[in-house]
Amino acid sequence: MRVEFDQWMTGSAAAADAERILSSCVHCGICTSVCPTYDVLDHELDSPRGRIYLIRDMLQGAPVSERTRDHLDRCLGCRACEPACPSGVEYGQLIDIGREQVELRVPRTAFDRTRRALLRRALQSRRLLGAALQLGWALRRWLPARLRAQIPVRPAPPPAWPQTRHSRQVLALGGCVQGAVAPGYDVALARILDRFGVALVQVGGTGCCGAISQHLGAAAEAAQAMRRNIDAWWPLIEAGAEAIVLSSSGCGSMVEDYAHLLKDDPDYAAKARRVSTLLRDPVELVGALWSSADLALAPLADEQQPLAFHPPCSLQHGMRLKGRVELLLQRAGYRLTPVKDGHLCCGSAGTYSILQPALAGELGQRKLARLMAGQPQAIASANVGCILHLQKNSPVPVRHWLELLAERLPQEPA
Ligand code: SF4
Ligand code: SF4
Repeated sequence: MRVEFDQWMTGSAAAADAERILSSCVHCGICTSVCPTYDVLDHELDSPRGRIYLIRDMLQGAPVSERTRDHLDRCLGCRACEPACPSGVEYGQLIDIGREQVELRVPRTAFDRTRRALLRRALQSRRLLGAALQLGWALRRWLPARLRAQIPVRPAPPPAWPQTRHSRQVLALGGCVQGAVAPGYDVALARILDRFGVALVQVGGTGCCGAISQHLGAAAEAAQAMRRNIDAWWPLIEAGAEAIVLSSSGCGSMVEDYAHLLKDDPDYAAKARRVSTLLRDPVELVGALWSSADLALAPLADEQQPLAFHPPCSLQHGMRLKGRVELLLQRAGYRLTPVKDGHLCCGSAGTYSILQPALAGELGQRKLARLMAGQPQAIASANVGCILHLQKNSPVPVRHWLELLAERLPQEPA
């Protein structure tokens, strides 16, 4: 695909990336068959190839309108199209560039700008989100069913964080949404790692990984969050922390991208590369530790109890760790049910379920139908967003796989 950028783009730091990515697309259309929005909407401009054309045309100076922006807004950023592409088109990077440019060229209405700014603010502040959730939980029973379904289930208080000291340390993130709605995931990871003699350290001064701002087209705000996290992690990295391990794959996938996203920042590029190199998903670390040491787990109450696993897009397409959690769950004794079209997104996709509720709802229903086809007693996943989104309509519990394992750890002698 030959590209000649307009003036707007020629001076942009992303021009070289955009040219490389656009030139690598041979517009074969193979990616359309795996795209969830194309699957639902059956419209070329809601497919990866269609969006690539839209971004190319925009960057070359063709007129852009709200219609262009709507097609880009409807992209989940799930990156299912990347592993399917025979030419290795880095679509995830291109959609970020396209989104940033469309924000500049097609201004949103004041209402939309305010809504998106509020969303960024609320979801990145544990205090604000915590207060909103407390209010939602208090008023829940009086709310209409449609609104009630949007409020996450109040989490049970998590078990205590392990107090054992270990010389081997890995780092976690203070986080944003997850800390308020699912504080048990990090505790579960900490308890499992503790049994292998590794301490999970929650680092003060860290916050949101930056994904919320990045996916809402606020790249400068995302970069600020990345720099803040790097600054908070850095002293511990220099002191010998072995890895950064985040219990939600959406955050992990974002941190893995720090190296690329900060590559033009002279003060942070090298540190960002180091941070991205240190990033491990829990399945990688737990899998590696479990392959060389035993993990004692209480037997399952019912060994025949079937479990369905939903692999988040950030895990299978972003970090390319498809099939790895399933192997650990099988090793832990679970009988996994087959799930059709596992590559398709559940519709959660960060803030997508809030900004595109109809499409996200349809994708969620389709995903649940596929997950429930094998009649599981529960669904497991690896990302807070997917779990909350599926929980809204699931007839069975939806849990993080780390919690399932941690619940079966025998009590430590006092
Ligand atoms: S992104 Fe890849 S699969 Fe899709 S049209 Fe381009 S070359 Fe083909
Ligand atoms: S990222 Fe997902 S929704 Fe967007 S074009 Fe690719 S497959 Fe489709």
